[in-house]
Amino acid sequence: MRIDIVSVVPEIFKGPFSSSIIQRAINKGIMDIHIHDLRKYGLGKRKKVDDYPYGGGGGMVFRIEPVYQCFDKLLSERNYDEKIFMTPDGILFSQKYANTLTCKKNLIILCGRYKGIDQRIRDHLISKEISIGPYVLSGGELPAAVVVETIARLLPGVLHNPNSMITDSFQMEKRGAHPIYTRPKIYKGWAVPKILLSGHHKKIKEWICQKSIQKKLDS
Ligand code: SAH
Repeated sequence: MRIDIVSVVPEIFKGPFSSSIIQRAINKGIMDIHIHDLRKYGLGKRKKVDDYPYGGGGGMVFRIEPVYQCFDKLLSERNYDEKIFMTPDGILFSQKYANTLTCKKNLIILCGRYKGIDQRIRDHLISKEISIGPYVLSGGELPAAVVVETIARLLPGVLHNPNSMITDSFQMEKRGAHPIYTRPKIYKGWAVPKILLSGHHKKIKEWICQKSIQKKLDS
């Protein structure tokens, strides 16, 4: 799967993309991530990407030309399944939608900044608008990283143990994530449920099933 991310602060991705799951997905060739600095497509000597909003109001706005040029180059090279804009007023990102995205071959993710982006970019260049939650960050980079990591762990071959992903919260329609424990058996008097130490696989399975259904009912 190829993901092209368009941003004015590309250095933000160095951290999240150079360790753990996303790094593994990249190193294994399962995810091919390309970060594009929108400033390269900026206007004039100063490579300007933003301007004042027509009609006034605070904050700067992404101009359409740099985004158009960048998208035009990418679209001339391959077809994209979705051209996503990260925005707080988009559809709320979910595990279900992440599952859908794993079936795509090529994605573009545009990260906004400042007050936002010229509406014509949204109307003519973008196919999906995604929010990671009902709150406002300063840019679309962290939201894009959230989307990329959620997809990465779903792609076959990325997690060492795919069973772990199947039983995650939100992955199962009728179940939540069951409680999990590791060593020590007792810490400060807080004990691991006896059943998990019993070695009785059938009973353990039933306990896990019951707990995960209970979690869903409680949520
Ligand atoms: N004025 C805009 C917010 C701009 S925040 C509004 O009120 O909707 C600047 C950029 O950060 C946005 O263009 C978007 O790309 C990103 N962003 C901020 N919060 C986000 C969220 N919850 N989900 C996805 N992207 C977000």
